[in-house]
Formats: sequence, structure tokens, C-alpha cells
Amino acid sequence: MDKIGKILNGVDIMIQKPKGTYDLFGENAEKVIYLKKIIEALMDKYNYKYFETPIFETSELFHRGVGETTDIVNKETYDFKDRGDRNLTLRPEGTAGIVRSFIENKLYTLSMPVKAWYFGPMFRYERPQAGRYREFRQFGVEAFGSNDPMMDAEVISIIVNFFKLLGLKGIKVNINSLGDKESRENYRTALLDYFKPYINDLCEDCRNRYEKNPLRILDCKVDSDKDIMKNAPKLTDYLNEESKEHLARVKTYLDSMNIDYVVNPGIVRGLDYYTHTVFEVEANIKGFGSQNVLGAGGRYNHLVENIGGPSVPGVGFAIGIERLMLALEAENINLTEEKNIDVYAFSQGLNDNSYLMNIVNMIRLNGFNVEMDYLNRNMKNNFKKADKLKAKYIIIIGSTEVENNILTVKNNETLEEFKIKKEEIIDFLDSKLGDINEN
Ligand code: ATP
Ligand code: MG
Repeated sequence: MDKIGKILNGVDIMIQKPKGTYDLFGENAEKVIYLKKIIEALMDKYNYKYFETPIFETSELFHRGVGETTDIVNKETYDFKDRGDRNLTLRPEGTAGIVRSFIENKLYTLSMPVKAWYFGPMFRYERPQAGRYREFRQFGVEAFGSNDPMMDAEVISIIVNFFKLLGLKGIKVNINSLGDKESRENYRTALLDYFKPYINDLCEDCRNRYEKNPLRILDCKVDSDKDIMKNAPKLTDYLNEESKEHLARVKTYLDSMNIDYVVNPGIVRGLDYYTHTVFEVEANIKGFGSQNVLGAGGRYNHLVENIGGPSVPGVGFAIGIERLMLALEAENINLTEEKNIDVYAFSQGLNDNSYLMNIVNMIRLNGFNVEMDYLNRNMKNNFKKADKLKAKYIIIIGSTEVENNILTVKNNETLEEFKIKKEEIIDFLDSKLGDINEN
């Protein structure tokens, strides 16, 4: 257990991380940095722009944005009052904040589409388990201003191509259509009629959903295996012509990009704001846990309006970074790059390390990665440390070096030794390491 124990006035105080959170460091931290780099480069290719919105927003935003009848808003939010008595919520997802920002900064006055991406922590009060945390990270995109199915297909293609780029093989793309407002309304009526005789067989949450938003019944995790769920009317049978045409186009465009998918009428998504296309990308890896949805999203043509903006359509997705990392692990995909140190520098027999500090600072400013000895190690332990860091060159500074302004430099592989004038050290390192570092 990673507890910090402390005895204070005879009382044993244990300070631990909050339940459902984790500390990011070491190899996992490297992995997150690496993923973020890949994402940045990928987003450049698609011309999506980076957004960062506050980690807390007014609670009202999520009630209007995510929806009153969703699990996220009903059960999972971290709500608090600040010292000014404002109702605030730690963001449980990224879309509502981006949409608020889109409206507040009048980005709808720009030439459409506006294509945004984000990466950051989200907070949900859930039962922690593998792949499910109370603080987790999401990478997501939102594309505003086009109702064209090209946009739905592009957004799906980003997830698929991202996973492809990482080398992840076992994925399955499920798509479905919730249709437009009219189709959803017809379907709602059909569901109400269908579930009416079974109302007492449903769980308490679903009985509530029956009153408020019967579509959510199909997303229930408690009742999902019951026959009444399996035999429920399918939304696809209630789509009007326009909605059918939209779905058909999305499929055509996915085909044109050679993206495999299945149309899965069971996908209704946990959020209230979707219209037309919804999708989930799941890990299809043997032995992968039950939290297997890596990313999900859909089209939300009324969300901007619901939050108080003009009528602008949008489509987006969010990927859970932790679940993605578990999937990559399950396929033995190694994300960390081996990082070598260019130079390891240390002094011997000096009381004052100003000369060492000066050299190290200069070399770092010239673009090399340098580590140095802070612990006054002896010669042998310094060489050991240099090997451990896989340093390519070692610089040793003693009183002779300081007096003559000449550095002792060692190639840590060939052990060849050089005497280099201080003012020529950068040229020397450039000639030896320059090409390697430019890659
Ligand atoms: P689930 O059905 O698993 O609860 P969700 O429908 O609530 O997922 P979304 O709101 O669509 O999830 O979030 C998109 C992605 O974020 C999910 O597919 C998942 O990878 C990730 N995610 C959601 N909740 C968590 C969590 N508590 N911990 C870790 N990752 C999560
Ligand atoms: Mg959830």
C-alpha cells in the first residue's frame, strides 16, 4: 500500500491518494507524453486545433450539456461550492466545455468548420476498477459547422487511424444512427408503448428513465441481458428518409477509406446530446477486461443551441487514455522511446562546482541532453552512473582542467579520450553527435 504514515500528537495520520485516482510517473508518464506527441502530429495532419478549457465549469453547463437524465450528471459528477457560493463541477467530459468556449468566444463567426482537439483529465464518481477511475484522461475532438456525413466519417477515421498508427490491431468499430429529432420522437413513442407492460420488470433507474428519457433504458447495464431488452423495437426501423440517407452516406465514406465497421443497433450512448451518427470503438482482444470501450462519440446537431448558442451542428469523440494504454499493453505494444543522455559531466576534487555548472549550462543551451553528478561520487561510481544513463560522452573536470581551460572528454563507448579547449566543446559535440540529434 502506498501510504504515507505520520504520527502527529500521537495520532496515526495516513495520507493517501483519493480513491479511484493514481499517480502518473515513470514508464506510464513517458507513455502519456509519447501518446500526446503522436496525437499532436496526427491532429496537425487533419488540421484540428488544440483547445484547453477549465477543469471546472459551472454545474449548470453539464446539466444542460450532458443532460439531466444521464448517469454522468445524475450520479457521477464532482460538485462543489466555491467560497463565493458558486455551484461548480469538475468536468466529467470534454464536449460541454468546448461547446461553451465555442459559443462564448463567438467562434461561430469564423469560417466553418471549426475543428478542435483536447487532451486532459476528466472526473467521474464511479466504482473504481481496471479501466475505470475517478480521475482519468481523455483525448477528444469536436468538429463544428458541417452536417455533412463526410465529417462523421472523418471523425471516425481519426480514431481508427490513431489506433492503426500505434499498431493496435484488435479493435472493432460499432456505428449506429439515432436519427434526427423527428425519428427520435417516433422511436420514443414506440419504446413507451413497448415497455409499458414490462415496467415492473425493469430496475429502479430504468423505471425513472421510462418517465424521463426511455432511450436511456437501452443503455442500462443492469437490465441489459433481459429478453425484454433484446426484443425492444430497434431505432433503425424508425429512421425517416433523411436520417437513413445520412447513415448510408457515412457508411459509403467509411468504405471509401477502407474502414471496417459494423452497424450495431444496440449503441445508444450514455449522453443526451447525440443525433444521427453514434459510434463506439471497442478493444477486441482476448482476455481484455469488461471495460473494453476505448473511445466513443457521435453527432450532436442541437447541443450548441441547447447551451445557448446559434444552431450549429457538431460531431466528435473522446478516447479514454488509460483504457487505450491497457489495450496497448495487452497487445505487447511498447510505447516508450529509449532516451539516451548525450553527456554526463562530473568534477573531481573541487570544492566549488561553478566551472562544472557553467559548462553544463552552456552545453544544454546548445541543444544537448546533459546529466551531471550532484552527489560528489568518486570516479568509479561516476562511470557506473554514466553507463546506467547510457551517456555517449563523459566530461571530467578537475583542478588541472579548470586552470588550463581544457576539458577531459571521454567517448563512453570506445573509451577514447580527448582534450578539448573549453570554447571548442560545442563544435566538438556537434561534430560527434550533431547528426544523430537532428533526426
Ligand atoms: P462506460 O460505458 O464504460 O462508462 P462512457 O459511455 O461513460 O463509458 P464516454 O463518456 O463515452 O464513456 O467516454 C469516452 C471514453 O472515456 C470511454 O470510452 C472510456 O474509454 C473513457 N472513460 C469513460 N469513463 C471512464 C472512467 N471512469 N475511467 C477511465 N476511462 C473512462
Ligand atoms: Mg460511464
